[in-house]
Amino acid sequence: MSTGKGTDKGRATGKGAAKAAARARGAKGAAGATSGVAARAVELRDLIREASHRYYVLDDPSVDDAVYDDWVRELEVIEAEHPDLVTPDSPTQRVGAQPSEKFESHRHLQAMLSLANARGDEELHDWNRRLETVLEQEGMGGQPVRYVVEPKIDGLAISLTYEDGHLVVGATRGDGEVGEDVTSNIRTIKAVPLVMRPDIGTPPARVEVRGEVYLPLEAFAQFNEARAAEGQPTFANPRNAAAGSLRQLDPRLTAERPLSAWFYAVGASEGFEAASQHEVLEWLRAAGFPVNPLIEVYDDIDAVAAACEGWEKRRGEIDYDIDGAVVKVDSLEMQRRLGAVARAPRWAIAYKFAPTTATTLLKDIRVNVGRTGAIVPWAELEPVHVGGVTVERATLHNQDDLARKDLRIGDTVIVQRAGDVIPQVVSALTQRRTGDERPFQVPTDCPACGTALVRPEGEVIWRCPNRSCPAQLVESVIHFASRGCMDIEGLGEKTVQKLFDVGLIANVADLYDLTAEQLIPLEGFKDQSAANLIAGIEASTQRPWPRVINALGIRHVGEVTADAIALVAPRLDALLGASADDLARADGVGPVVAEAVTEFLSSEENRAMLDRLRAAGLTMEMDVPDGPIEGPLTGCTVVVTGALQGFTREEAKKAIIAAGGKSTDSVSKKTTFVVVGADPGSKVEKAEKAGVPIIDEVMFADVLAGGAPVPARDDA
Ligand code: NAD
Repeated sequence: MSTGKGTDKGRATGKGAAKAAARARGAKGAAGATSGVAARAVELRDLIREASHRYYVLDDPSVDDAVYDDWVRELEVIEAEHPDLVTPDSPTQRVGAQPSEKFESHRHLQAMLSLANARGDEELHDWNRRLETVLEQEGMGGQPVRYVVEPKIDGLAISLTYEDGHLVVGATRGDGEVGEDVTSNIRTIKAVPLVMRPDIGTPPARVEVRGEVYLPLEAFAQFNEARAAEGQPTFANPRNAAAGSLRQLDPRLTAERPLSAWFYAVGASEGFEAASQHEVLEWLRAAGFPVNPLIEVYDDIDAVAAACEGWEKRRGEIDYDIDGAVVKVDSLEMQRRLGAVARAPRWAIAYKFAPTTATTLLKDIRVNVGRTGAIVPWAELEPVHVGGVTVERATLHNQDDLARKDLRIGDTVIVQRAGDVIPQVVSALTQRRTGDERPFQVPTDCPACGTALVRPEGEVIWRCPNRSCPAQLVESVIHFASRGCMDIEGLGEKTVQKLFDVGLIANVADLYDLTAEQLIPLEGFKDQSAANLIAGIEASTQRPWPRVINALGIRHVGEVTADAIALVAPRLDALLGASADDLARADGVGPVVAEAVTEFLSSEENRAMLDRLRAAGLTMEMDVPDGPIEGPLTGCTVVVTGALQGFTREEAKKAIIAAGGKSTDSVSKKTTFVVVGADPGSKVEKAEKAGVPIIDEVMFADVLAGGAPVPARDDA
């Protein structure tokens, strides 16, 4: 792991544990080297102590989690090889940090431990072998082990004490023994039941319920935006925002933050019995606690490993941060026999994902010119490993965003990359500034063609107004050939750029004049690949008319809008003759989009290009049904929220339209029903208030197929 400048405090550049092991091993043989190891242990303890304070007490971390984890591992290795160097106050011997004096303290009836980490499959299997050995020693060898795999929520651990089913205390983990009493703040979190549900019968006389408070990602983004707009410092990540929100002295402030919680364990209890972790989870669910629906039980460790890997790939699909998966031995009897070492139980392990954030140096800020002339700033970074890949560039969205984040060239910045998401610069670590950092100046002229840039009133984006700007033309061909558009096989970004560079094309229409003979002499082409590209271009002439509209790259027009425009302008002539009012009859097309389309079509150059595309044989018309489409959803307006399993958002919209319905994004009086997928947003609440029926994906599929009736509104 490389951490880039800034995180490289001390010697912990991330090679961590392995290096430390080598150092520690070498130290044994060499006289005098032990003192070097001892000094390193002292240094690591200081670094870890300082970082822990910033992280746990101030909710303002100074280094990446991965760097911190490496320090801890390095120290653990040293201490394992040199037990005489272990001190009682070593961070390896304790959990978290001492509770803040801002709050009353609360002593947990049962200690709240941390978790040991496994990075990758091999370490997961190592853990499993260790626990099998202990079970063997405990006389339980050969008994099948079941595992519960839970998402590791990147939030803040809490312990709630209930007496006779009523919440009496809510506390943070603190140092594991003593936490902070934040009961009034906990009470403001809607997901926390103040009273247990009667479904569980007589509630236990007393029970500690454990879980994790978190801030959903969407809420985090809105919250940070609002803070930035008020000129307040933003939080580096949802975990710190959640911790900062829960540890407010004024509960009214906590109440304003949309915190939520998942629950996953029971601590000390009187009058509560369970035999396994999954029984505990079922009981929590019945008692009214939110229990994560993604939790699964497995019978063998290979299936566990596959589940963990699967989660790592899909972590970007859910609306809260998870930094790993927690694997727990299901049987509570086995858990008791396995016990704990130092500050973590032996019966559980945190399978850590590759970190999605890292800190690095912002070397420079450059700009790109998009296909509509938009000037998009991007960051050139000191290469850093994040989210499983090395990142050297990150998007900076637009000038306003850049100014809001106050990013300066030379800053140490936090970079984020989750799943397939394009890397982003989240914020600058302003405390690391030396005074040599430089603010970014938007160029006055287009870097590709030299035309003076303009910024239309009310817009946040600077643009190059030159329609023949080479950068825009290249981007427009890349878009034209892309998958949702003409889907031209073999015509990727690099090939497009090459064709421009050698002067074979200057716009999209030129593609259709290309011949294999022109391509063969070019670097990277052979007879077959040249013939393939020509065949790919030829095949694209068969793409349907709505795809052609999408491919033109008109501002604000994407796949769904192009479909809607094709319905009101089913032929090229109709499109060329359409007024803004005509276009505004299309679903989802407002005055801004209609204006953008008419402006595009009013250009002589664009009309000439369309003529050439028609001459090249592209599909420029389609059949439209007379009148509205008759189907199960005729006359219905449908809103989809959350992630569906069988449809992407675009596919769901298309299915609604194909069934005769209208798809909109916001719930209103006109909404017929709302389809809810995983992790929906606030639309569900809005629909409930407005008495709009809410259905799940299975029912939606039934309604689409005409197998179930359209759900009726309360006021219908
Ligand atoms: P941990 O985060 O590795 O694991 C223990 C915690 O996991 C529990 O306390 C609980 O809060 C949480 N958790 C989430 N889902 C859970 C589930 N389903 N079951 C059980 N527990 C679940 O350990 P830790 O002791 O909280 O802290 C160490 C972590 O904090 C490190 O990984 C480190 O990256 C980070 N940290 C970072 C800094 C920094 O400066 N960047 C400083 C201190 C700690």
